[in-house]
Amino acid sequence: MENLKQVIAELSQIVGEYHVLHKDVDLALYDCDAETLDVARPDLVVLPATSEEVAAVIKLANRHKIPFTPRGAGTGLSGGATTVMGGISLVLTRMNKIISIDPDEQLAHVQIGATNTSVSKSSEKFGLYFAPDPSSQVASTIGGNMAENAGGAHTLKYGMTTSNILGAKFILPNGDTTTIGGPYRDSLSMDLLGLIVGSEGTLGIATEAYLRLTPKAKSVETMLAYFNSLEEGGQAVSDIIAHGIIPAAMEMIDRLSFGCVEESLHLGLNLNAGALLIVELDGPPEVIHMERESVESIAKTNAAIEIKWAADAYERTMIWKARKSAFGALGRIAPHAYVLDGVIPRSRLKEAIIEIDKIAKHYELTISNIYHAGDGNLHPALLYDRSKEKEVKAVLLAAKEILETCVRLGGTLSGEHGIGVEKLLEMSYAFAPEDLEAMMRIKRSFNPQDLCNPGKLLPNPKSCGESGKRPLLRYQLSAC
Ligand SMILES: Cc1cc2nc3c(=O)[nH]c(=O)nc-3n(C[C@H](O)[C@H](O)[C@H](O)COP(=O)(O)OP(=O)(O)OC[C@H]3O[C@@H](n4cnc5c(N)ncnc54)[C@H](O)[C@@H]3O)c2cc1C
Repeated sequence: MENLKQVIAELSQIVGEYHVLHKDVDLALYDCDAETLDVARPDLVVLPATSEEVAAVIKLANRHKIPFTPRGAGTGLSGGATTVMGGISLVLTRMNKIISIDPDEQLAHVQIGATNTSVSKSSEKFGLYFAPDPSSQVASTIGGNMAENAGGAHTLKYGMTTSNILGAKFILPNGDTTTIGGPYRDSLSMDLLGLIVGSEGTLGIATEAYLRLTPKAKSVETMLAYFNSLEEGGQAVSDIIAHGIIPAAMEMIDRLSFGCVEESLHLGLNLNAGALLIVELDGPPEVIHMERESVESIAKTNAAIEIKWAADAYERTMIWKARKSAFGALGRIAPHAYVLDGVIPRSRLKEAIIEIDKIAKHYELTISNIYHAGDGNLHPALLYDRSKEKEVKAVLLAAKEILETCVRLGGTLSGEHGIGVEKLLEMSYAFAPEDLEAMMRIKRSFNPQDLCNPGKLLPNPKSCGESGKRPLLRYQLSAC
């Protein structure tokens, strides 16, 4: 970067010297997000503490024509926070205050770097919580949840982040501050909130949010059912929905993944089974009682080999621990996991499972399967070693085929992890050129200089290798 010393001095004036990182050893921590195949080092890392500081940093970046990329906890799985054009990694985790909780309005006002869990913890004493629950919720920030429109196990019933947010303080890519939406439902203005949620930090940077809180359900029942195969479990999922039941959550994990969990946590999971299905029901006790009987009977009809219901809150927590630790536990068998996020119509779950298995065999890859099964949101994790070129190439080609399969089955590329750099080239499977151009025009109108999170979400027509300043491994290997 030109004028590096001058820029560091100016940034230090805004956020304090201690919050501008420029040594290689510090910058290395921000090389990538949790999608570790794509690595690109920022020139600088800046950690502001207020909206005013964020706005001032952005104005400075505009004056010096430096790209800047917002970053929360860096748990993203599509390379969204990776600085593919270098420049500034603008890390928002110091902005982690819960500003207020209003139990009467069921509303939280938070700084954007607050973690997802901290919002629910602060609301707990009022019998409320923040419904979107990504498995990364202990670390991931509200800003990252907004930018990716994060979901989670309970999205099936309670919706994604977009259904649980009312407004945001937002700094535009030129450094101007605006408020979009607000603490109350707003039907007068354009739905700009709908536009910025899920825009992956390409339209500006959120610094505060108004979040809708949900009252805790009166009664909760959680079932853990084991099946011989994912196909049988998948059929049970389709049958439950076809029966007219909308569980709070339906999650499925294969033997490979829950085997790793069992080795790490010793939860007593049944290692003779091929698939594990979690079904959670919540609502008034009378309704839950009837639904429980139906769900159990459907599981049995689909040859469940063991069924357990959580007897108390502790057992429920242990069941969820098995699910929420599944990705991390895969570290026991491979140094890297490339986690996909394809979506398929629920009714085609069985076909998708068979296709993914064929692709794994063809590329001689180990693929673990963890699904938000109720939403048809698949997370096949392709296990590999980044230092082995042959494995990286196989992962990229297999990933492409799996995403193609999802689109062919009537689904799409991403349910919640976003496009980032990971699926740029696959956008053309799901969108016609004119659709992509319409989205590009919106992006240009907010972000005309393309300084705000460049190289993400929308493919540049020049396409393969476009990341220019920091060529990514995927382009170096020409797997595209
Ligand atoms: C183990 C594991 C489990 C996961 N489980 C789930 C899951 O169940 N559901 C799910 O949806 N996701 C899941 N994820 C993915 C990830 O946690 C989510 O996408 C999360 O929302 C990212 O939050 P973050 O704070 O880490 O954001 P980051 O990774 O830092 O950033 C993500 C994107 O948001 C942008 N961004 C960050 N903050 C702002 C801001 N204030 N304004 C504008 N743009 C911003 C970044 O530029 C980037 O494009 C999982 C990840 C891991 C590692």
